[in-house]
Amino acid sequence: MCFSSCGLPEKLVNNLEIAGYCMPTPVQMQVIPASMSNRSLLVSADTGSGKTASFLIPIIAHCSRVRSQQCTSKLGPLAIVLAPTRELCLQVEEQAKVLGKGLPFKTALVVGGDPLAQQIYRIENGIELIVGTPGRLIDLLMKHNVDLTYVSIFVLDEVDCLLERGFRDQAMQIFRSLSQPQVMMFSATLHLEAEKMSNSLAKNLIRISC
Ligand code: AMP
Repeated sequence: MCFSSCGLPEKLVNNLEIAGYCMPTPVQMQVIPASMSNRSLLVSADTGSGKTASFLIPIIAHCSRVRSQQCTSKLGPLAIVLAPTRELCLQVEEQAKVLGKGLPFKTALVVGGDPLAQQIYRIENGIELIVGTPGRLIDLLMKHNVDLTYVSIFVLDEVDCLLERGFRDQAMQIFRSLSQPQVMMFSATLHLEAEKMSNSLAKNLIRISC
């Protein structure tokens, strides 16, 4: 498998080349095709495996396909990535910007430490992807009405760490405000709690271990 045979937008394939991603990593080889066929996934993958791009590539492809077909009045976000820390969210958003450059793909970072009003303003102006920590995103959603109708991909990155930090209920609360999205869960270790959570988020999950 190579990136150009995955049905990705040409611009995205160019961005991958520019970023120096010549070949998909093993986790990307499994996650990208499964995700592009709208399957929900529970993935065991370490940091350094290329897991971030494995969920960002299908998200960017989805967003650019939807935006090219959609009328401009529907500006709600199309995907949400939850990660346990501000630093991890920053890294995910940074990589998303690099890979989505030149495509109809804008991001909003929803983490503590930056003014909430600024984050709301950015979302209101039309973005495709929200990357945030569960607590801050709940805070924003309680204070401001964000239309989540079109969110069809929901990613939980570093699930083991999200659970350790006590974010389970907040992540579930965000999930319940969505309409049956495709779910992608990533964890370095797949312990019982992560398995249990995955069962309440999606049926017929594909399990991928790299
Ligand atoms: P991650 O596992 O997501 O933390 O990614 C680890 C590093 O691998 C990051 O610096 C990525 O930019 C890089 N990376 C991701 N996918 C590829 C790829 N297909 N080829 C080369 N580098 C990659």
